[in-house]
Amino acid sequence: MTYQLPLFEIEERPVVVPTEVEELLYDSDTEVLVAFSGGKDSVAMVLYLLDLGIPKERIILHHHEVDGRGEDLFDWPCTPSYCEAFAEAFNLPLVFSWREGGILREMYRQNEGLQDVRYRTADGDEALLKSQPGSSTRMKFPAVAADLRTRWCSSVVKIDVLSRVIASSYPKGGQLIICTGERREESAGRATYKTHEKYRASTKKRTAIQWRPVIDFREKKVWALYEKYKVQPHPCYMLGWSRCSCQICIFSSPNTWAAIDEIAPWKIDRLEEIENDLDHTLYNKLRIRQKVRKGRSFIPREMLERWKGEAMGEFISPIFVDKWNQPAGAFASEESGAV
Ligand code: SF4
Repeated sequence: MTYQLPLFEIEERPVVVPTEVEELLYDSDTEVLVAFSGGKDSVAMVLYLLDLGIPKERIILHHHEVDGRGEDLFDWPCTPSYCEAFAEAFNLPLVFSWREGGILREMYRQNEGLQDVRYRTADGDEALLKSQPGSSTRMKFPAVAADLRTRWCSSVVKIDVLSRVIASSYPKGGQLIICTGERREESAGRATYKTHEKYRASTKKRTAIQWRPVIDFREKKVWALYEKYKVQPHPCYMLGWSRCSCQICIFSSPNTWAAIDEIAPWKIDRLEEIENDLDHTLYNKLRIRQKVRKGRSFIPREMLERWKGEAMGEFISPIFVDKWNQPAGAFASEESGAV
């Protein structure tokens, strides 16, 4: 089957599907996996795939729960339900995966290996992926650094989890495209990422390519897709966040910390408690409470009243809206996500 690829220009770079990806993408034997955080770039990836004519039957969403079904701390409480609502509205399968206890459990690692990984398929079946025994110790927060070796949270609860689930749950001889939602516009680090590359779970028998479909999207293209499909953004954008990711992200600006304090003050209390417990602070020579005090919440009053309950609970609004309005967090510049 031949497809006509829609090409369009963004300000700096044309958005194109690389030939190597295109060949695999339009092969009916290829499964197209989307790393789906529920944030704007992951939503844009799905909408872009639909625009490209990829049949829904070949698209599978994968979401990682960063708290690993342990204590609710780092994640937005509404994120799993938002992802479920989105998947249901678009009739797409959604796989949940997590490392037991998530970021917090890994912070408290003492003389042991990484926690096990679990996943739940779209059919509701659960599987356990045992981790190697070990004897290392963290007892600290992830480092606020670009280097993934010290800023270990991204790899421990997202990147490694996805590759383990893919390696164990997809056919060994299959063809996969793994879509991840980094955009060059987001940071200097991401500006250097490749558009596509061999995925780590690829083997002699399994062809697996990691593709960053929205790498050259400008933010206006992301929101234009939301508007075109009339999709309700994740509640965090309604409250003024520019990035979704973890609610408690180590890269949060003081204003973002102040906003977290406004809607979830118990999370700041809990982080203070952890700082005391670990005798380690998230920021150099600055305690979390001091960081909060340096900022001012940016949440618009009317949005606070409308969205706080859903952001900090279950997402219950419809995914498709009659009239689409740009959220308060669109084109905002507060730091609140990985670099
Ligand atoms: S969003 Fe922030 S806290 Fe969460 S995994 Fe990424 S860098 Fe770590």
